[in-house]
Amino acid sequence: MEKKIHLIDVTNRDGVQTAKLGLSKLEKTMINIYLDQMGVFQSEFGFPVTRHEKNYLLANLKLAEMGVLKNIRLGGWIRAIEEDVETTFKRVPNIKHLNLSISTSDQMIEYKFQGKKSKKSILDDMSKAVKLAHAHGAESVGANAEDASRTDVKYLVEFGLAAKEAGADRMRYCDTLGYDNPFTIYDTARTLAEKVGIPIELHCHGDLGMAVANSMAGAKGVIDGGQEAYVNTTINGIGERAGNADLCCVILALTKSKGFEEQYRLAEDVKLKMISKIAKFASYAFDVPIPINQPGVGSNAFAHASGIHADGVLKDPQNYELYGYEELGRGEPISVETGREITTGQYSGISGFSHVMGKIDVSFKNKTRIEANEILELVRYANVESHKPLVEDELEFIAKYPDIAKMLLTLTPLQWKETNEP
Ligand SMILES: [Zn+2]
Repeated sequence: MEKKIHLIDVTNRDGVQTAKLGLSKLEKTMINIYLDQMGVFQSEFGFPVTRHEKNYLLANLKLAEMGVLKNIRLGGWIRAIEEDVETTFKRVPNIKHLNLSISTSDQMIEYKFQGKKSKKSILDDMSKAVKLAHAHGAESVGANAEDASRTDVKYLVEFGLAAKEAGADRMRYCDTLGYDNPFTIYDTARTLAEKVGIPIELHCHGDLGMAVANSMAGAKGVIDGGQEAYVNTTINGIGERAGNADLCCVILALTKSKGFEEQYRLAEDVKLKMISKIAKFASYAFDVPIPINQPGVGSNAFAHASGIHADGVLKDPQNYELYGYEELGRGEPISVETGREITTGQYSGISGFSHVMGKIDVSFKNKTRIEANEILELVRYANVESHKPLVEDELEFIAKYPDIAKMLLTLTPLQWKETNEP
């Protein structure tokens, strides 16, 4: 059977652990919803071992149960140790997909673990953790080799084989420091696919500006080696240091670059048309502007000034554009309020709030005043967390699923001290 490429977006995990940046639990939820609508295979949706993630993770699993999230898999990220697996299933018992991570390079073994772990104990820890995750009911488990690009390939093969033996469904090859180039990652990914014999995931960073190119080359290596490939992305490339492989660029590169799609195809029907919306939302939520020259979604991505180019593109867009802006969901007029503006905030009142909601077609006609007040209260709390006016989709979400919104907004620090919760 033809081997294909799946996308696993890690914005809600790698993206949010970026220095100086973060997302509210509602914003993370909206990202899962948009990724699902877009047709992305999996969202690495958070950290089951981190206490303040618990309600958010449970709420999103509930949204999947309710059919609000339709096809997307929700995967948690934890360390590849039994203790983390135990804690995960105590806190989030119905989680079904996990990636377990452990460092594999000599650098990390020597200078991070500092004698606490050896090459052998790393294999043991990972194998035990993978088995335990399956024993607790995980449906898919990925074993992550952190700093894989600085790890000896022979040891990586050993790691992959041990993971496979323990029942792992995939191995994640992490180019944690962005050290690879397309040539090296192709070779390594192909070797791993051939010698380990399970699907391989590529996790690439942009420290040398090659995250997207490396993801593509790695995916090609995996497929040439006879396995399914999984590529990690983040929206707008947001991620630690110089960031991760950008979701939009990865889709464009896989589907538009010279001859690639003829042999190496995306497994899911990913709707590129949604990329503008999701990019804009992530930019607003992270409060990080999209660079004007960002491929596909930057404001200059389809702008032409020079006489020759403008003339050429007017005669036939294909003269100077590789793909049409409509394909990325661009071209819709956007209206910006230039007169009086009523927004929602943490101190909003019911009349301003009804005005805002009325404008976005959320009718309060069939809601009682008490219900309307409750929704407003949730909007206020959401605003306390996000520090900016909520977007229409967020307001609609709260109005439609107030119980889920309440769960997302409920943070109870130090609770475990009283309740003995894990
Ligand atoms: Zn990373």
